[in-house]
Amino acid sequence: MKKLALHWQILLGMAAGVLFALLMTNFSWGSEFISDWIKPFGNIFINALKLIAVPLILASLIKGISDLKDISKLSKMGTRTILIYIVTTVIAVSIGLGMVNLIKPGSTITEETRNELIASYEGDASTRIADAERQKEAGPLQALEDLVPSNIFAAAGDNANMLQVIFFAIFFGIGLILIPEETAKPVKSFFDGFNEVILKLIDLIMLAAPYGVFALLAALVVESPSTDLFAALAMYAVTVIIGLLLMIGVYLLIVWIFTGRNPAFFENGIAPAQLLGFSTSSSAATLPVTMERVEEHLGVHEEVTSFVLPIGATINMDGTSLYQAVAAVFIAQAFGMDLSFGAQLGIIATATLASIGSAAVPGAGMVMLVIVLAQAGIPEAGLALIFAVDRPLDMCRTTVNITGDAAVSMIVAKSIDKLGEPHARNWNDNLPKG
Ligand code: ASP
Repeated sequence: MKKLALHWQILLGMAAGVLFALLMTNFSWGSEFISDWIKPFGNIFINALKLIAVPLILASLIKGISDLKDISKLSKMGTRTILIYIVTTVIAVSIGLGMVNLIKPGSTITEETRNELIASYEGDASTRIADAERQKEAGPLQALEDLVPSNIFAAAGDNANMLQVIFFAIFFGIGLILIPEETAKPVKSFFDGFNEVILKLIDLIMLAAPYGVFALLAALVVESPSTDLFAALAMYAVTVIIGLLLMIGVYLLIVWIFTGRNPAFFENGIAPAQLLGFSTSSSAATLPVTMERVEEHLGVHEEVTSFVLPIGATINMDGTSLYQAVAAVFIAQAFGMDLSFGAQLGIIATATLASIGSAAVPGAGMVMLVIVLAQAGIPEAGLALIFAVDRPLDMCRTTVNITGDAAVSMIVAKSIDKLGEPHARNWNDNLPKG
């Protein structure tokens, strides 16, 4: 029997998880059973992915940079990557703004519903708002300062700071280019081998993906809060989702135009990473799989994936920026505020920056939303309005974040002649011939 493609296996796992949880909620002990006996497997799966992320970035980026051999190639790729990332993010925010102005989901909220929502979520909201306040107090050069770690082990430790790890890996890679080849050789071959091991570990972890997502989705279903005010937010959620779907369309189109690869090819290659992004709500946790898919199934050379994707997972969040634009205007509409054209232009700038600053973990986009709200003069208490539907939207925007990184890496690869044919790794290649 032909083996089912990975994305179908993952989809089946997701559907089975939801069905199983719905079934179990019919029993009084069902939810507890899922929390005690199913959810831990989902957590183990996410932990395993996260476990791989830091060593993967270190090994593949150091290898990727040192393979470039000269620094001018690095700066060429770097400039293009950052430029295209910013352009796609601005497109995403503009789509979000267009949709929310067209559909006007917030105008359906009455003052009474608004106050009720705020009151019922005040408790929950306060800690997240406090988090957000801290973000806002940072000085203008804080982001730059945060880029340089004072201790690489701390940077790679609990709640690893990906940008700092990336900084260290690039710095180390540059050092490796600059020392004599003879001395660099053993270090390079160490990282080459290390990188291969990590890629193999990803293969192994992915064998468990269908079961991992089964557990994650089952846990999500039994834990999602039910609220009868949910209906008031449906329109807002639909607006975000339409915007996100349009953005996926934009990626398919630009990949087609700039690389000649058709939408079906791109979707088939990236689907497992998208589904994993959806299930985990974390670009960082999905990164190992994104890298593997883009390299082996979309044909992007490792020199490009190792540089473009880890950076993208951390700073390029088109889904998040689109969501932030919709959420900000939605809250303004709910408060009966009329945002001027100038204020909306301001949102393009702040949502772009806020999405760059969002960590690649669940819920980060919502914390950073406060910066967008503050700049546009929209009441921060409005965050309470959107709490209830944040998780499902987080799942959707993370999927888009990952798709954007993959699309940009293909375009960058094509522009520097590093886009080839897909190739599943053939392990026999590594064996001595004859
Ligand atoms: N969860 C998103 C991600 O990891 C970030 C966000 O909250 O928008 O890409």
